[in-house]
Amino acid sequence: MPFQPPDVLLLGPGPSPTSAAVRSAQALPLLGHLDPSFLPLLDTVQQGLRSMFGTTNQLTLPLAGTGTAGMEAMVANLIEPGDRVVIGVHGVFGQRFAESARRAGAEVVEVRAEFGRSLDPELVAQAVVAGPTRLVGVVHAETSTGVRTELLPMVAAARSAGALFVADCVTSLAGLPIELDRLGIDAAFSGTQKCLSAPPGLTPVSFGPRALARVQQRRTPVPFYFDTRLLTGYFGPDRAYHYTAPISMLYALHAAVEEVQQEGLAARIERHAAVAAALRRGLPALGLEALVPPEHATPMLTTIRCPAGVDDRAFRAHLRQVHGIEVGGGLGPLAGRVFRVGLMGHGARLPNVLRALAAFGDALAAAGQRVDVAASLTAARGS
Ligand SMILES: *Cc1c(COP(=O)(O)O)cnc(C)c1O
Repeated sequence: MPFQPPDVLLLGPGPSPTSAAVRSAQALPLLGHLDPSFLPLLDTVQQGLRSMFGTTNQLTLPLAGTGTAGMEAMVANLIEPGDRVVIGVHGVFGQRFAESARRAGAEVVEVRAEFGRSLDPELVAQAVVAGPTRLVGVVHAETSTGVRTELLPMVAAARSAGALFVADCVTSLAGLPIELDRLGIDAAFSGTQKCLSAPPGLTPVSFGPRALARVQQRRTPVPFYFDTRLLTGYFGPDRAYHYTAPISMLYALHAAVEEVQQEGLAARIERHAAVAAALRRGLPALGLEALVPPEHATPMLTTIRCPAGVDDRAFRAHLRQVHGIEVGGGLGPLAGRVFRVGLMGHGARLPNVLRALAAFGDALAAAGQRVDVAASLTAARGS
């Protein structure tokens, strides 16, 4: 018997729900990765990713692996042992970025902020000029805390010191504007299972000219799989074999990219903002409060404080078992103190907000809290 997944509404930090079109694309018969009828699909995917990243970078491609593989591809190509790098750390993914760079032999300077707070661009600028800095790495949308970072001032600090700037756009791609070229960001990576609503397994990456020049100057080799010079073979005009492209996942990503284009990137970004606002409007009537003020918050992920007297694990188990809804728990210092609601891609819709609020109300009532579900839903719906 084939596996039959239960019906679960994915409103956690990813994966997000996929559309029927994306799922059926993934089930289509395979083609060879060099087949002339497959290659135009790859062109469409790469062009779609360029427009979402806001770049004309030729080397923009869906690398095999999840978002973390994209992060490691950045580290593998752009960092050499002994390089001084500055990483913003105000959540789990900034920590991961710093750890990945340390393992590549970098001297990592962490610029920290409390989980749930924004990074101070002034502290980043100070860290950049305190020594010869090769690279600055910052997470655009911290999925572990729900904090959105204003990248421009940090990019400016990196550029004026001659350092490369790399952005983690795993959660922000197709949900927030990303303007690599306008901001001067040298390289970025993303994932497919957040606001793109494709299955996990590919990591969109983009390398700009300064990043590629840095690779040319290396004294030490890049791991074979991630080497941008070899990736250019398949993902550049030659379409020469480097590794077997994950065909089925590319079918699915292609369908997801087409959906973004049909909706329009601006409309999709606006939809993420609108549903996040609806969720926030519904919280007070349930006695709930968001951790991050709206001006610093990510629209695709809202971190909500767990009320005093409510056991976070029991609350989430009730949502999953009774309502078939998955939300995320808190990570690191926020474990047990918050839960995380993702409204990403195909999942970012008002009916899902209303379903989630009603389920939160029921789970809170089961935990003995006073809630007004009808008032919450009315507020979320707006006028
Ligand atoms: C999900 C996520 C990652 C890690 O991606 P995986 O696909 O789990 O490897 C990295 N950074 C951010 C901001 C993320 O949200």
